[in-house]
Amino acid sequence: MGLEIQLNEHNKQEYPPMHTVEHILNQTMVRMFGCPRSKNAHIERKKSKCDYLLQEEPSAEMMAEVERRVNEIIDQHLPVTIEFIPKTEAGAIVDLSKLPDDASDMLRIVRIGNYDACACIGTHVSNTSEIGHFKMLTYDYTEGRLRMRFKLIE
Ligand SMILES: [Zn+2]
Repeated sequence: MGLEIQLNEHNKQEYPPMHTVEHILNQTMVRMFGCPRSKNAHIERKKSKCDYLLQEEPSAEMMAEVERRVNEIIDQHLPVTIEFIPKTEAGAIVDLSKLPDDASDMLRIVRIGNYDACACIGTHVSNTSEIGHFKMLTYDYTEGRLRMRFKLIE
């Protein structure tokens, strides 16, 4: 009986601090812009990128605010916890729209404090204090797609 599901192509070797900050960044983008979580992310130890679908190009001030909020969450030293929840109950907590039809009945839900909850099979840090800090490197906006590149610093 498999409890874990494959939500999308997921590299289990992902660097846990970088992958965990991806969750925080996704939730921050959802809250600030009302956009979906990134469906096209490339997470590497040294440098990562995430794409977001936005109707308008964000201002430089908004992008600086994204970085500030992500670090504000990190600095709260939130616990990262994992629980298994029946699929029938998980819809109230996380977006199930990307779930494959053959997903198992129990979903692995990753929570970052009370800030974010996401069905994920990846590897995460156990507390946001292990992440370091989030540094946005560059971003560009083309035809409704914001591409953001970032790294982690001390
Ligand atoms: Zn994850």
